[in-house]
Parts: sequence; C-alpha cells; structure tokens
Amino acid sequence: MTERDEIAVVGAGLAGCLLACFLARRGYRVALYERRPDPRTGRVERGRSINLALSERGLDALRRIGLAEQVMADALPMRGRMIHPVDGEPQFQSYSAAGTLAINSISRGALNNALLDAAAALPEVRIAFDHRLVGLDPATGEMTFETPTGKTTAVAPVVLGADGAGSAVRGQLLGHGLLTESLDFLDYGYKELTIPPLGGDFALDPEALHIWPRGTSMMIALPNPDRSFTCTLFWPTHGTASFASLGSPAAIERHFATHYPDLPPLAPNLVDDYQHNPVGVLGTVRCTPWQVGGKVGLLGDAAHAIVPFYGQGANCAFEDVVELDRCLDDCADDWAAALPLFQQRRQDNAEAIARMALTNFVEMRDKVASPVFQLWRRVEHALERALPGRYVSQYELVSFSTTPYAEVRRRVRRQHRVLGAVAAGAVAALVGAVGAAVSRGRR
Ligand code: FAD
Repeated sequence: MTERDEIAVVGAGLAGCLLACFLARRGYRVALYERRPDPRTGRVERGRSINLALSERGLDALRRIGLAEQVMADALPMRGRMIHPVDGEPQFQSYSAAGTLAINSISRGALNNALLDAAAALPEVRIAFDHRLVGLDPATGEMTFETPTGKTTAVAPVVLGADGAGSAVRGQLLGHGLLTESLDFLDYGYKELTIPPLGGDFALDPEALHIWPRGTSMMIALPNPDRSFTCTLFWPTHGTASFASLGSPAAIERHFATHYPDLPPLAPNLVDDYQHNPVGVLGTVRCTPWQVGGKVGLLGDAAHAIVPFYGQGANCAFEDVVELDRCLDDCADDWAAALPLFQQRRQDNAEAIARMALTNFVEMRDKVASPVFQLWRRVEHALERALPGRYVSQYELVSFSTTPYAEVRRRVRRQHRVLGAVAAGAVAALVGAVGAAVSRGRR
C-alpha cells in the first residue's frame, strides 16, 4: 500500500465514523461513503429516533478518541429497571449491587452526529454523503456508488463495510460467492411511541429504563434530554394479538387502556404515533467469513447484527473498532493478517452476545415481573456484595465491563454451577438436619 492510498469505509453510521477516527489516528487517509445525505442538516425519519443504552464497552471506545465526555454530556444515566405491572405501583430493580452503576440513554442520531463531527474535523478523513454502494469488485477494490447525479466509481486497497444490518458490502461478497450468511428474523417488530414532558418535567423517573413486561409483548421507555421519553413497543408483526390486529383508533385506545393503563394519560399522541410510525424488523445476522483476501472486511452490524434486548449492538460495534485497531497494532498494519485475526478474535464474542440478547428478550418481556426472578436478582446482588469481584452477575459483566462476551458466558456458567452445588449442598445439609431432628423426636 502506498502512502497516497486511501482506505474506504462504507457507511458513516456509528461504527463507520468511529473507525474513520481510529484509522486517521493511525495515519491512514480515509474515504467515508454514506448513502444518506448529511444527517446533521436533515430531519429525523418519523418513528426512527431510537435511543440507545450506551454502556462501558461503547464508552471505552469513545474514551480512546477523547469523545466520551462530550457524548456523555447529552446522556441520561439509568441505574436500573422500573417495572410497570398492569395493576399496582411500578417497582425499581437496580442494575448493580451498590445501585450506583448506570447505563446511559442517548439518541442514536445525536451520537452519530457527534461522531460525524469528530471524523469530519480530521484532515485525513473525507466524507462522501449521498453515495450508496451498489457494486464492489472484491479482487480489485473497485466500488460503484449511486449518487444524486448518477453512478460513480472509486478504488481502494482496503474496503471496510460498516454499512449496517442490511450491508451492501456483505451483499456484494455474497453475490460473488465469497461469503455465506444467515438472517434470523424474529416474529416480533417494534414501533416507537412518545411520552412528552409533563408540565415541563419528565413524566416518569428519568433515572430508570422503564419496562412494561406483558409476556408475549413488551414496551420499554428511555428518557431524552428534552424531558420526553421514547417508548418502543415490541409485539408480533402478525396474528390476532399483533401490530396487524389494531385497525382503528378505538381499538388502539382499548388495547393500551387494558394492557398499558398508565400510558394513555401520559401519551396524548398515542393513537397518531401508533397509526403513523413504522414497524421495524428485528433479527440476527450471521455470516462468514468477515473478510476476503485481506482486502474487504466487515464490522459492526454488517458482520453480526443482533436483536436489541441487551442494549449491546452499538456497544459491540464500537468494541469491534477497538479490536480491529488492536489487530492492526499486532500485525504491524498488514491488513492481510489483521483482518483474519480480527474475525478470529471477534466472531465467538459476537455469537455470544447474539445469544445473550435473544435470551434477554424472554427475561425482559416475561421474567422481570416474576417474584422468583426478583428474588434471584436480590440473591445475586447479595453475592456480589459478599464476594466482590468474585461473583459478578451477567448483566454487570456485559454492561459494566469489557470482559469479552464469550468469556462472560463461560464465567457465568461457572458461577451458576458453583452456586447450584452450594445450593444442593445446603439443601442436603438441611434435609439431613431435619431428618436427624425427626429421629431424635421419635426416640
Ligand atoms: P448502522 O448504525 O446501521 O450504520 C450503518 C450506516 O451505513 C448507516 O449510516 C447507513 O445509512 C449506511 N449505509 C447502509 N447501506 C449503505 C450503502 N449501500 N452505501 C453507503 N452507506 C450505507 N445498540 C446498543 O448498543 N444499545 C441499545 O440500547 C440499542 N438499542 C437499539 C434499539 C433498536 C430498536 C434498534 C433497532 C437497535 C438498537 N441498538 C442498540 C443497535 C444499534 O443501533 C446498532 O447495533 C448500531 O447502530 C450498529 O452500528 P453500525 O455502524 O454497525 O450500523
């Protein structure tokens, strides 16, 4: 690669912008291609605002380029879940034993804009908006883009696809027979609804992620800096109880009054939001390989999109960037070695969080409401306090550490095995003691 060569990053979303910053720091020139117009000058698509829970992995990546503080200025910390039952008062469940650790609610658009600003400020980075990748020759690195003025081409020695779950770069590799993929869509979709400020203040506790667990459906709400909440309703897309089943304003009002009774008084635009906001799809993307010939690579959602129930998609995409940077360090910037190493180090971790995210859907929509689950969380917090650093819950390891996701799964399995053995031993001892007492009583 010559000094004049430019690395191409396709997709100026969260991972793409962060990657451009990291590559520029390594001294590369970067061409960042984005299909959309500059989002900093446009308007947000209705019902697609998405606020993210940003946690330690994402923050760790942002700290490395000096952006964490700025991003956190727009974030709202959430220290736990507030569970809203159908009847009765909401109940708070802390995320950490001490109640101090928090995940952070932030608008995906605001985060993307902060990252775009950071990338655009670097002389090494050139951003081409309105450039939709529609063709890629993986052998030569020649890319074809559709732009408002017609098609255009560009060539790069390395092309990195950070173009999201529906990645065109992945599609091109698939089309050339160089990759296999599986797309597992859930039967569930999601729709955004809004709770505006109430009398100028938050209508709900802003220091919590609110959850309305309803078994086969679920709604969550995250706070925004303007004191509104963005709610996301997860529900099957088809069937008698699904997004498709509410055909009239009266049916919508009835449904929410029955299943989410505290929402309608707080959401005056509920019916309008419901009728006009789109239903998004949810799924898991797996593919392999993540790179071809050390010349074309995938990262972020393009390589491994996951369902959003652990709040980790963006955090994981950011962590990808940190790991790719580390691989370049370890391979002295030899891309042909670094890209396969990146896949080797990240693929198991991506699979681990994909599985944990799917399992967490059941936890969030169902288990969080059960007394057994609540007792289990209290036991876990007690163990964390009693064995600091030795017993750490899965949630803490995922959200408040950078322990590799695959290691989190292994460690949690080990912890549960030990706990199971201790519990079995305690039950056996108890049964023995009761048996001995009964025998003594008979004598
Ligand atoms: P994206 O952010 O999707 O960026 C891809 C970019 O590529 C976009 O700018 C797109 O316009 C561009 N692009 C696409 N195709 C082309 C093309 N052909 N040519 C050029 N450019 C192209 N994650 C969390 O960490 N925490 C959360 O709480 C969380 N909540 C979520 C809630 C919901 C409802 C959803 C849907 C997702 C959530 N996520 C969350 C996941 C998170 O949004 C994604 O994992 C993250 O955005 C992935 O970043 P990315 O850069 O890989 O892809």
